[in-house]
Amino acid sequence: MLRVHNPLIFLNRMSGTTVAQMPQLLDKGNIKKFLDSFDTILTDCDGVIWAGDEVIDRSNEALNYLRSLGKKVFYVTNNSTKTRKEYATKFGTLGFTASQEEIVGASYVMAQYLKQKQFNKKVYVIGTSGITRELDNVNIKHTEVGPDPCPENVISLRDSIHLDPEVGAVVVGFDGHFSFPKIMRASSYLANPDVLFIATNTDERFPVSNMNLVFPGTGAIVRSVETAAERKAVVVGKPSPLMYEVISKENNLDPKRTIMIGDRGNTDILFGRNCGLTTLLVLSGVTALEDVKSWVASDDSEKHSLLSDYYLPTLGNILDLVK
Ligand SMILES: [Mg+2]
Repeated sequence: MLRVHNPLIFLNRMSGTTVAQMPQLLDKGNIKKFLDSFDTILTDCDGVIWAGDEVIDRSNEALNYLRSLGKKVFYVTNNSTKTRKEYATKFGTLGFTASQEEIVGASYVMAQYLKQKQFNKKVYVIGTSGITRELDNVNIKHTEVGPDPCPENVISLRDSIHLDPEVGAVVVGFDGHFSFPKIMRASSYLANPDVLFIATNTDERFPVSNMNLVFPGTGAIVRSVETAAERKAVVVGKPSPLMYEVISKENNLDPKRTIMIGDRGNTDILFGRNCGLTTLLVLSGVTALEDVKSWVASDDSEKHSLLSDYYLPTLGNILDLVK
């Protein structure tokens, strides 16, 4: 057996397949060793610390406790609907300590990405003001967000849609007003291979509890545009390592002394692993223990790459383990 990437995954040389082990449940026996193993925490927000506007099980107290031990905390979210400044207000209201510099959202990273490329044209935006305000912060021009409704006669769009020659990038984030004319505009701009194509994230769904409804995520919108454009977007959100690169560059982080906490295997945990971080899955959001067990049992090495090093029912449970 040969160790590969994740210490929980072993390569069986005979069969060429990987064999995975269950992540370790944090308990009173291993909590001290775990807490001593890192200085910096990156944590996801939706499904880890809050669900909508509700704090999940003492997550604010748990993070304050970790701060009291001297740990640095960064909030890393794929949600593109708020700017860092707007997030800072929400954190304060819900009892979290957070400065703007500690909040890294997909919209912020997208704007930094364009700035680093010295982009000086205009951005066609499918999204919300969370995106346009971050573009304003780096002085990049953009189209306005909001409804772009489809006329009764779709064919009439052929005459009514006029492309702006200034547009040099298409950015796609969450947009409750997503519509047929928006796919048409975006894919028409993207017919020019020089036009940049950026997505904030490809999350399939939002974590919504106590509902029988599916709340589609940004991924559903991005895939629509990709299909019509016949191009793939550059994704700045997790699991892409771009977010870590932005935080690491500004704060000089050591990946060996950094952990990633998240509620989703295919974004948070995969992101942590892509960046060489220790990973902690909490079961208060999208990924359930049954999912983890099925990934362990699977022959598919891609499923194994979604497995964390540790898991806990909720982040607040840390408080029970250190009593
Ligand atoms: Mg989440």
